[in-house]
Order: sequence, then structure tokens, then C-alpha cells
Amino acid sequence: MKQEYLAEPFRIKMVEPLVLTTREERERLLQEAGYNLFLLPSEAVYIDLLTDSGTAAMSDNQWAGMMLGDEAYAGSRNFHHLQSAVKEVMGFEYVLPTHQGRAAENILFTTLVQNQKEQYILNNMHFDTTKAHVQHKGAKPVDLVRDIAFDPVARDPFKGNMDTEKLEGFIQEKGVEKIPLVMLTITCNSGGGQPVSLANIKAVSAICKKYGIPFFIDACRFAENAYFIQQREEGYAGKSVSEIAKEIFSYADGCTMSAKKDGLANIGGFLALNDEELYRQVQVWGVLFEGFPTYGGMAGRDMEVVARGLREVCREDYLRYRIGQVQYLGAKLLEAGIPIIEPVGGHAVYLDAKRFLPHLPQDQFPGQALAVALYLEGGIRGVEIGTVLAGRDPETGEHDYPNLEMVRLAIPRRVYTHRHMDAVVAAVKNVYQKREQVKGLRFTYEPPVLRHFTARFEPLG
Ligand SMILES: *Cc1c(COP(=O)(O)O)cnc(C)c1O
Repeated sequence: MKQEYLAEPFRIKMVEPLVLTTREERERLLQEAGYNLFLLPSEAVYIDLLTDSGTAAMSDNQWAGMMLGDEAYAGSRNFHHLQSAVKEVMGFEYVLPTHQGRAAENILFTTLVQNQKEQYILNNMHFDTTKAHVQHKGAKPVDLVRDIAFDPVARDPFKGNMDTEKLEGFIQEKGVEKIPLVMLTITCNSGGGQPVSLANIKAVSAICKKYGIPFFIDACRFAENAYFIQQREEGYAGKSVSEIAKEIFSYADGCTMSAKKDGLANIGGFLALNDEELYRQVQVWGVLFEGFPTYGGMAGRDMEVVARGLREVCREDYLRYRIGQVQYLGAKLLEAGIPIIEPVGGHAVYLDAKRFLPHLPQDQFPGQALAVALYLEGGIRGVEIGTVLAGRDPETGEHDYPNLEMVRLAIPRRVYTHRHMDAVVAAVKNVYQKREQVKGLRFTYEPPVLRHFTARFEPLG
């Protein structure tokens, strides 16, 4: 097909009507929600870009699979389907289903992190829940991504790569016995959905082998990462995404997976691995935390959805549309002169609120103010990734100001069309034109932990 003929590679069989609100209604809704977009009823959101997690539209094939749910306590056929899908797509022998990704993390760290002093888990960049689970086990999460990842406008095809010199240096400095495992997060979510190259995956794997350290992949967006490898890495243009995915996992001892991302499911996850003895060990914790090993935290029908989703997500027409849509939104915003983080990653576009609203100091929460302004303008919901999210320094009690103040516009999979993206661009442009009028915010209620979820604000005068 010619490039210009390539539209969304699906037709729409069922629709969920969107509710249009007036500006006055959104003003009132914002007041009621304390200017915290997490507290809005989702029906009052026109285009919801809060997260790409658990928000995908399932295919007809996945919906049909739900009817084949075998809700047996033990030995459900859907478990066996999930097992063969994981084997086929990722190559791993054993799979332990969990209710979502963080439950797989909990089981893995509980098994591998022994309760002794000074343990480090190394990752390119830990995702929030991964970091929290590492800390919960008394270990220290260490991010070893290359420094370039912290430059918001440095263009690099694989900005998620781990710094292999830092990795080997760290292992030599601290000693192998203090490092129960090394992980790579693909794509690198906390770094903006930036991909990791196969060369880097191979190199990290080789270092882990050399020192005898288990190597796991946080695989939430493995297909998106594989697609970037196909598009950008030398030697992979002629390989299929499925072949690339298989190669990625061939270098790892296992993976944790949130099926709410590249499982194209609304709930679910798993831990997958090759070593039989380790599988026996994780099963013990799996039973305790999640349930019998052939269902974990999932209903049979949900395992079927994930099994089918894992195969669908590797389709290249789908990935071309998926990654293409995120890149499309980014390119249109750049064209309009809107400051965003570059290059655009696989699942979201990040507005740079410091450059967008230079008149707002960080203690007036420019990211939150921008997210609120975008909802007021067009009923579009993004999420602040800035000072509100970062919280306070436990020692000084001061805001723990991050380098970047951002609004993340995460794109759900197969949910919105390019026309919706045009609407987002139009609304962002209109906010940008009136940016001097955007007011800062202050807390009227600040919860002690995870404040971004339940905090309330009011606009400053
Ligand atoms: C979402 C996510 C997780 C956690 O998965 P949940 O299903 O939300 O528990 C872990 N790692 C990364 C990179 C993620 O994006």
C-alpha cells in the first residue's frame, strides 16, 4: 500500500459515545475536583490521555476469547493458551499469571532479594512501582541510564539505553553478591517511553552473564520497543517485529509484564522465566500473593484476552499505526511551536511546562496548571509529571523539585483516531496562545503520601 493510503488498520465495530461539556461545566467540574484531574468523573473527559495503561480497545478476536473463559480453579485451558502465547512470542518456558505488572515485580523481588544489608537492583530507569517494590524489600533501586536521557531535547534513537560502563563499574565497586538482579525497562517509561537498542540489551546481558547475575526485562512495552529497533537499528530493517521480540527475550532470564500495556488488555500481567528451579520458588510466593499458579490474579477469560493480545500487538500494521499516531501528535505540536520533550517516545507526548509557562515558578506547579488549562480549554485530560508528583523531601520537608515540569499526554491503544489527535493539537495551540493568562495553583489539601492522587488546589489570584 502507498504511504498515503495507510489509515487506522481496523474498522470500528462498537462505539462508546463521548460526552461534550461546555466551558462553564468544565469550570464547575474543576472546582468540584479541587483542580485535580484524577478527581474528575471520566465521563466529563472528552479525550482521556491520562494513561495508556489498561485503556486499550480490545479486538473482536479478544472479545470472542472472553466467551471461551474456562473459570476452573486449576488447569484452566486459558492458562495453557497464555503459556503457549508467551512461549511463541517471548520464548519463555514458564509463566506465572498475576493480576497486573506490579504483582509480578513483588513476586520476583520477594524471591530474589534476600533480606540482608546493602542490596542493589540495577535498571536503566525504574518505573515507580518497580522502584517502590525494590525499596519495600529493603534494597536500593539504582538507575544506570546514559546521561543523555536527562537532556529533554537531545535527539538519540535509543535514549533508553543503559550505560554499560556505569553498569560494569557499579558491579565491580559494590561486588556481585550485593546485586541480586539487573533489569532493563523496554521501552523506558520513566524516560518518556524511549526505546532500548538490541545492541544494548545484548551488552547488558553479556555483562550479567560474565558476573553470574540474573537479568530480567520489564517487558510492558516490548512490541513498541521491537518496532523502534526495526525502524532505527542497523541490521534489523529486514527482520519482523516478532523475530526481534524473540531475539530481545533470548538474552534474558525472564521478564515481568503488565498486560495493561502491550498485552492490549484492560487488566492482567505475568512473570515469565526459563529456569525450572526459580519457577518453583516464585510459584510459592505466587500462591501466597496472587492465587493458584494456573490463574494467579486473573480470571480465565482475562488470561485468554492476554494470550490473544500478545500475538496481536506484534502485528506490524498495528504498530505502524500505534507508534505513527504518537509521532503524529508530537510532529504536529512541534510544527505549531509547542515546547515538548524530544524525541517523542512510544506511548506518550510530553509537554514541557517550564518552557510553556515560563511566568510560573515551580512552587506554583506549572505542570499541574497546564494540565488544568488543557482540560478547561478542550476537555482533554493529561497528567502532571512534575513537582506535585515528585512530593516532598522527607528530610527537609521542602518540595523535591524535579528538573522537568511536564504534562504527559499518553495515548490509549486503538482508542482514538488521528482526528482526535488533531483536536488535541488545536486545544494545546489555543492554550499556548493565551499562555500568559494561565494562573499558578496552591494546595488547599495536601495528603502526606502520593499526594498527586488526592490533593486539592485553588488557582492563585
Ligand atoms: C505499568 C508499568 C509497570 C507496572 O504494571 P501495573 O500493571 O501497572 O502494575 C511496571 N513497569 C512499567 C515500565 C510500567 O509501565
